[in-house]
Amino acid sequence: MESLTQEVCPNPHAMNNSAVDSGAEAYLEFMKKYSCYDAIPTSCKLVIFDTALQVKKAFFALVANGLRAAPLWDSKLQRFVGMLTITDFINILHRYYKSPMVQIYELEDHKIQTWRDVYLQYYNQSLISIAPEASLFDAVYSLLKHKIHRLPVIDPDSGNVLHILTHKRILKFLYIFRSTIPTPRFLQRKIEEAGVGTFRDIATIQQTATVYDALSIFAERRVSALPVVDENGKVVALYSRFDVINLAAQKTYNNLSISMKEALRRRCCFVEGVIKCYPDETLETAVDRIAQAEVHRLVLVDRHDDMVRGIISLSDLLQAMILSPAGIDALLA
Ligand code: ADP
Ligand code: ADP
Ligand code: AMP
Repeated sequence: MESLTQEVCPNPHAMNNSAVDSGAEAYLEFMKKYSCYDAIPTSCKLVIFDTALQVKKAFFALVANGLRAAPLWDSKLQRFVGMLTITDFINILHRYYKSPMVQIYELEDHKIQTWRDVYLQYYNQSLISIAPEASLFDAVYSLLKHKIHRLPVIDPDSGNVLHILTHKRILKFLYIFRSTIPTPRFLQRKIEEAGVGTFRDIATIQQTATVYDALSIFAERRVSALPVVDENGKVVALYSRFDVINLAAQKTYNNLSISMKEALRRRCCFVEGVIKCYPDETLETAVDRIAQAEVHRLVLVDRHDDMVRGIISLSDLLQAMILSPAGIDALLA
């Protein structure tokens, strides 16, 4: 576990100019005052996998329990060593898929440990966790700095995982308390002026492309979702890493040559339409929309033709609301 506050070097000028945004300071104070423990729901389901479990069984167990991720327990080392997420499912399919005619042996027979031995040669990532008494500010910093979406909260005394924090959960906690904190002035800025989000080199996918194409973009660009566009570049749907779990739920991962259009049609649990925002809307509107829709990002589109202009994800909003006021940019590569 890291002590993150000590690692960061806040920009001393950020909080020291004459036009101080007292709302931004209040948000920062709030996130430093409340701990990860405070943001844990009173009851939730947590599944843990032993690294000796077969990967296929693990992904089926995520589906059966309606979960997106699980901490990994190494019984030899007697400690948690990592996480298994849908990104791992994507990486396995992308690495080993050959054609609809060939079964993915590595998915059928590999244990989680076997997969980790392969994966860790390229991405030597040890478990990133946080203590319950660490602040929510530290949790946001850790999620953004490490570019992960799942942060296990581990009790240092018992070694138990208490919860898995996500951007969504943290925003929800802040959102519940928003009427008690002054609203930062910068949230009144228009999206096109505020520069919050990604506006260049947006990874998208044509609806005629295959699911394998989508997995390739997820694996290579490491983005969390792809706006699906028609032949004119107009957004027609959104395919996120979460949606790939449908391939496990429906046991259709042996045919990744189906079109995106077909994959979208076959999804059994999804959000209707595309949750968008427009350049002339304010950041506050974007925060309200993303919190209410409980999605991880908004697709920024032109008002008149629905052409994709950008992505505003929870990472961008938490960076702007929590880390930027402290003079920290955790999203820098
Ligand atoms: P997803 O968006 O699919 O839930 P993540 O972005 O969180 O996935 O995961 C990206 C990669 O980082 C995956 O290989 C996952 O196993 C790994 N990972 C995720 N969270 C952690 C963590 N807390 N500690 C170490 N590795 C992690
Ligand atoms: P996670 O909870 O793992 O972060 P996401 O928010 O990425 O998951 O996705 C959950 C579901 O919401 C998926 O079915 C995804 O397609 C859908 N979804 C996410 N963002 C949007 C969006 N902007 N518009 C439409 N659907 C979305
Ligand atoms: P996320 O993984 O969604 O938390 O976002 C991490 C960063 O990637 C943010 O700055 C997003 O704006 C950016 N991002 C997310 N999806 C895409 C995409 N499809 N194309 C380009 N950038 C993206």
